[in-house]
Amino acid sequence: MNKYADIIVDISHSKLDRVFQYHVPGNLTNKIVIGTVVDIPFGKGNKNLKGYVIGFTDKPNFDVDKIKDITGVASMNMSIEAHLIKLAVWMKERYACTIISALRTLIPIGKKVNEKTQKEIIRIIDVDELESYIKMWDKKNYKALSRAGNYLLACDKCKQSAIIKKTDVSPAVILNLEKKGIIKINSERIYREPYNVNNIKRSKNKLPNMEQQKVINKVLSNLNKESQVYLIHGITGSGKTEVYMQIIEKVLEKGQQAIVLIPEIALTPQTVRNFISRFGNQVGVMHSKLSAGEKYDGWRRARDGDISIMIGPRSAVFTPFKNLGMIIIDEEHEMSYKSEVSPKYHAREVAIKRGEMTGADVVLGSATPSLESYHLAKEGKYTLLELKEKAASTNKLDVRVIDMREELINGNKSIFSDTLRNEIQNKLFNKEQIILFLNRRGYSRFVSCRQCGYVIKCDSCDIPYTYHAFGDKLICHYCGKTINMVSKCPSCNSKYIKQFGIGTEKVESYVRKEFPTARVLRMDLDTTARKNSYDTILGKFRNGEADILIGTQMVAKGHDFPDVTLVGVIAADLSLYMSDFRASERTFQLLTQVTGRAGRSNLQGTAIIQSYTPEHYSITKSKEQDYIGFYEAEIKYRQVMNYPPFSNLLALLIQSTNSKELIKSSFELKNDILLVASRLGLEVIGPSPANVSKIKNNYRRVILLRSNGYKELMQFIIRYMERLSIKYKDISIQMDINPLISY
Ligand code: ADP
Ligand code: ZN
Ligand code: ZN
Repeated sequence: MNKYADIIVDISHSKLDRVFQYHVPGNLTNKIVIGTVVDIPFGKGNKNLKGYVIGFTDKPNFDVDKIKDITGVASMNMSIEAHLIKLAVWMKERYACTIISALRTLIPIGKKVNEKTQKEIIRIIDVDELESYIKMWDKKNYKALSRAGNYLLACDKCKQSAIIKKTDVSPAVILNLEKKGIIKINSERIYREPYNVNNIKRSKNKLPNMEQQKVINKVLSNLNKESQVYLIHGITGSGKTEVYMQIIEKVLEKGQQAIVLIPEIALTPQTVRNFISRFGNQVGVMHSKLSAGEKYDGWRRARDGDISIMIGPRSAVFTPFKNLGMIIIDEEHEMSYKSEVSPKYHAREVAIKRGEMTGADVVLGSATPSLESYHLAKEGKYTLLELKEKAASTNKLDVRVIDMREELINGNKSIFSDTLRNEIQNKLFNKEQIILFLNRRGYSRFVSCRQCGYVIKCDSCDIPYTYHAFGDKLICHYCGKTINMVSKCPSCNSKYIKQFGIGTEKVESYVRKEFPTARVLRMDLDTTARKNSYDTILGKFRNGEADILIGTQMVAKGHDFPDVTLVGVIAADLSLYMSDFRASERTFQLLTQVTGRAGRSNLQGTAIIQSYTPEHYSITKSKEQDYIGFYEAEIKYRQVMNYPPFSNLLALLIQSTNSKELIKSSFELKNDILLVASRLGLEVIGPSPANVSKIKNNYRRVILLRSNGYKELMQFIIRYMERLSIKYKDISIQMDINPLISY
């Protein structure tokens, strides 16, 4: 007997983030299960709120007389599977968030949305009878009725919206027709379709090559057994999408559903199109630009079994499929899989947990897997599968690395090496397209020597110092250590040591100067600020309206530009020496991705990487297209420096409008943390200025906590964070567990 329900109330207040109990009235006992969203009276004023039923009990923990009745099932039918409720509880424990914020992430409908219905009109009398009606209406001069009647002569079924539009009658006229028994009106629920599925041509399966077949067989052999995690390490162009689709086909044949996560729809329109052309209207698409109504529709269609595949960014991992068989995460190394707002969950972790709960398998895919995932695969926690050959073309990419130090010695002070300049000239002459890539990510203000390539780093963190013009200082953004700016290179004594930086505008002006006849497009945050300008620029370039596209990492993603035969990386150092322990990993990923843009068609592709430290393994290994070699070098660095995956980090981002107060509080906070840190085996690093040390009027500093185990970090949060936030209530403290960005 479900007499009393445990309920989480839909209200944002951490104090209320606990279970409330309500009585289930007799008439509702059959309608309310775990996962049902209900209306409840709450608080003294009995305010009408929504609540999520997370469990039942016979014996309440409170005085029975004081327990209120559930009012009813919420009108927007948003109830979810019980396992998703368990997932929310897990998220609370894993990410130290409130249950309600986890539930709201699972059911991403904040605003009330209207369900859209469509009315269909069916004529229920024959043409002769209708004609006699029309004669009568004409006599009486009932013009609207006559117009509608004439329209209905031609069709025995039509949409109400069509008849209203074509004959300019009001809905009252339609109702009148119904009253007279001339028509019947059928209401049916319609869904808003963000993608026009019918405009996409259908495609058939490709015959898998041997490698693809092996991967497909391996994954399929385990279907419907205990949940497994696979990591497909497949080079760019190895046909991972085809593998995903053939796996999913079998999942659907078993009556199960699949979720496909992609980093961002706008950046991967090709993948979405591929899936729709293979699976047609079985596919739903989620993305951030959808209206609340569209999101709600997609969510309901998934829950009600109208679709079987959901493609979308990280939040699609919560798609409420009832019989989930497979979760695929394409480009699993992408940072966008981690939420930047609370709950700061990682979609990969959630997917694996959901797999464990439901038995669904998880397939991760990437040409450059995250160090975390590859490490787990090597340890045997994930099954490693490989695709080493290109599926369609046999073209080898020609990657060349240019040592910019030598260019300087030879008197070339341009941003283009002689090699890159000559190649650009060649391609322009041949009317082939060129991408010039600036791998700038966020802030990088490191100081380096143009003569020998030396980069000044903090010895305790092995992270490049960041140059601060104020006071002419170098500051380590991990531990806060500060030294004076140098005037000579500590390694070679050269005076060519300075802050490194170049922007897309500067590249553009160089290009216009050196190649005045070339048609140039630039794509960066400035030029894509306006809505759709992103698509416009890419569209123009694809149509051949420009010869050279200059851009930041926005151009690096999975776009297919068949006419691009040259990719130039202006200065690989830009991302290599950011103040982030993942800088080498990001650089290797970016270089692999962007060089893969060249030579997608039958034409030979060339990639030219310019650098002042071409001997760095991120660069040599991407030239050799050797992920495993890169992994081996990088994992050693992580181990020696005790960075993830060997440790877990908790970033405390602290902010205040008062910069002096912030500095003082940050040191006091650190001291308070030190009092308890050693007991839990935590190391405290910082405080230091954040990479973006001021946003709007807020100054920002960071304290990092490092621990070998995840558990210890969580214990710290649970035991102390609330107290610390109260004590330091004048500054804001935000937590990020295992952040992917460096604050
Ligand atoms: P990835 O995602 O691994 O980089 P894609 O899925 O984009 O690779 O595949 C690269 C190209 O190879 C695509 O044009 C795809 O249609 C094609 N392709 C994939 N598998 C096959 C196959 N078995 N036979 C022929 N072409 C294939
Ligand atoms: Zn340091
Ligand atoms: Zn030097």
